[in-house]
Amino acid sequence: MIADVKKPDKWVFWTSGYCSVGCGLYIGVKDGKAVYTKGNPKHDVNMGILCPKGLSLCKSFSTVQTHSKATW
Ligand code: SF4
Repeated sequence: MIADVKKPDKWVFWTSGYCSVGCGLYIGVKDGKAVYTKGNPKHDVNMGILCPKGLSLCKSFSTVQTHSKATW
């Protein structure tokens, strides 16, 4: 369950680039900012499971967005 303040407006398909596994995931976007990360259960590589680095990917985007004009 996702808290209302973090409930995304849309989900963007993404691939984790932290290591060579390349897990599939979705980034939850709210008001143009990355607010949530969840694994893609239909992805052949990770079948919805993410390691802690992948699960925290939206935090990395948030940091980048704080220091740039990047939007989704
Ligand atoms: S989620 Fe973890 S295991 Fe998957 S690609 Fe990213 S770093 Fe590698």
